[in-house]
Amino acid sequence: MAIFELLRLAEELPFREKELWNRIYEVDVLQSKLKLVSNIRSWVDENFGNVSEVEDQKIIRVTNLITGEGALFNSLRSKRPMTRFPSRDLNSLVEEHRRGCPFCSPEDCTPEDSFGRIRGKYCLTAANLTKYDGHHSLIIPREHHPLRFDEDMVEDYFLVAARWFQEVKAYAASEGNNGATLYPFLMWNCLWPAGSSVVHGHLQLTVTTKRHYPKVEQLRQCSLRYACKYSNNYFQDLYILHKALGLGWAEGESCLLSLLTPIKEKEIWILLPPGPVTFDKFGLVGKAVCRVLNRLKQQTLLQSFNVAVYLPPLGGKADAGSWKDFPIVARLVDRGNVFNRTADFGAMELFATGVISSDPFSVARLLRP
Ligand SMILES: [Zn+2]
Repeated sequence: MAIFELLRLAEELPFREKELWNRIYEVDVLQSKLKLVSNIRSWVDENFGNVSEVEDQKIIRVTNLITGEGALFNSLRSKRPMTRFPSRDLNSLVEEHRRGCPFCSPEDCTPEDSFGRIRGKYCLTAANLTKYDGHHSLIIPREHHPLRFDEDMVEDYFLVAARWFQEVKAYAASEGNNGATLYPFLMWNCLWPAGSSVVHGHLQLTVTTKRHYPKVEQLRQCSLRYACKYSNNYFQDLYILHKALGLGWAEGESCLLSLLTPIKEKEIWILLPPGPVTFDKFGLVGKAVCRVLNRLKQQTLLQSFNVAVYLPPLGGKADAGSWKDFPIVARLVDRGNVFNRTADFGAMELFATGVISSDPFSVARLLRP
């Protein structure tokens, strides 16, 4: 894993980037030894390919000192034998779900918002039957297959999302909540490992009030403290540092990072510069998200994924000024094979830190155009 070269790469950084490195990250390389009993030696050799690598394991721990995010990397974990559901052709399984699929007839089989539906070229909106929050709706693509999409389609999904957020704002004003600050959130869970209950592809939109969701707000607070202490934009510095390490690259207006502290496998961040969130920006994020997902599909047979987009508030009175340096942040992770019985989130991930088997450097190599 190239991640094990991280300390050396950090040592070789130019002066300014090294200063950022020392400010943001801490890395520990851990050696862990074990003794294989003779009975399992050949089994280990067969499954892991190298007995000595298992007997003398190398683990790397990366901590972001600004945000408190962390990850433990050990590539051996990807070689663990997994219990799987009987393997099937995913396409034929998806086709079977077409029968009786409510999202294939959304006008007849899904509820609509109080203000009606928003229709795009490739999708429309529906109210969520069981909501997370005061406003919670779906973007339902016309395409049933959750892994079939191109840039035009995803751009359209994101543009419809932007229109839905505007509609919620207008609706809130019509209900007398004109001054309330509204915080939008966009997410996309694809297939079962990612937490999706319906096979037909769909994105989800929520709007919350008073303050943004805790994880978004926590990141913003960290970035505000960083700006206060170092007079720089945290996200910009994070990108400069990732770029210097070979983990960041630009595509048009978007900056992409293969994150050093992924929450789960292959986490990518797409950053769009701070400033007013226009329809154009929504479209750009949608296209950038689509490019990453499609490259992962081609290069790694991506089957299941989560996408989340952190967005500044939709206007209102409360602290809009302190959001002015917060970029649009789209986060993507791979959730693995849909036939795995074992979930990739356990107590470590829920309550302690990410445990990661994919190498951010390999992910960057796969994704850089
Ligand atoms: Zn369907």
